[in-house]
Amino acid sequence: MAELIKGKEVAARIREEIASELEELKGKTGKAPGLAVVLLGEDPASQTYVNNKEKTSKKLGFHSEVHRLPESTSQEELLKLVDQLNHDDNIHGILVQLPLPEHIEDEAIIHAIAAEKDVDGFHPVNVGKMMIGEKCYIPCTPHGVIKMIEHVGYDLKGKNAVVVGRSNIVGKPVSLLLLERHATVTICHSKTQDLPGVCSNADVLIVAAGQPEMVKGDWIKPGAVVIDVGIHRVDDKLKGDVEFESAEKVAGYLSPVPGGVGPMTITMLMHNTMQAFKQLNGLE
Ligand code: NDP
Repeated sequence: MAELIKGKEVAARIREEIASELEELKGKTGKAPGLAVVLLGEDPASQTYVNNKEKTSKKLGFHSEVHRLPESTSQEELLKLVDQLNHDDNIHGILVQLPLPEHIEDEAIIHAIAAEKDVDGFHPVNVGKMMIGEKCYIPCTPHGVIKMIEHVGYDLKGKNAVVVGRSNIVGKPVSLLLLERHATVTICHSKTQDLPGVCSNADVLIVAAGQPEMVKGDWIKPGAVVIDVGIHRVDDKLKGDVEFESAEKVAGYLSPVPGGVGPMTITMLMHNTMQAFKQLNGLE
């Protein structure tokens, strides 16, 4: 039976580290990291994500602002708010919750966020820096995935890593992070041929395809590390992209859903906000 990599526990430990560092810095500066989250519309999943971000940042003692705007907000109005937050000294991290309504261009908003406050790590400056291995804000979900693998002491050097999914927010960045840690990386997508065959060669399998329970136990190499990024509500239960029951019997390590990657994503957002706070205050 696979050993579970419980993101919830790993995340709690990282948050403790952030909290104790913050206590020290608050004592020195009298200031706290400020995170501004912007949400347009009433999408229930986005509302849950934003509420969790607000709750976590308040619990840590951050200054937290949530700007809840109607779905009809124009791109111009949203750009104006982003500009205001870019110039607000109490705000160190800015996150605009995606997806945005159709009448707004995601890129226009992502590009408008000051790169030094881009705690999601989606701005082209941060993406470019990550590509060439420079210090930057690493996107939260991929960073969380790597922290989970590191948590169990698994050495990625020379291992076959397979990533299912090539999105800009998960698949591509996690592939780069694995490569940086000297894994041999294969990136799969919807046009990949013989996906089960490719997966079965993986020492490390990261699944971010957005397809409920797509990866079955018999796609997994015995003893592999399997990180399930997917999250779906199926018959009122949360499921991942990996079929947990069959995968658990074959994998060496497996991340559960819920309680796996999800809590890590929010925690790495807090980590990035802390990093932004330190950089913008010359504390590093
Ligand atoms: P996207 O829909 O943006 O990307 C999905 C990727 O998977 C695409 O590259 C797509 O290929 C590929 N794909 C889709 N179907 C198949 C298939 N049948 N076989 C092989 N590849 C396939 O999703 P995201 O990357 O944004 O998210 C992935 C999952 O992770 C979702 O379930 C999402 O909810 C979850 N998620 C969870 C987070 C968390 O904190 N736990 C955070 C972010 C995402 P192609 O490019 O060819 O279309």
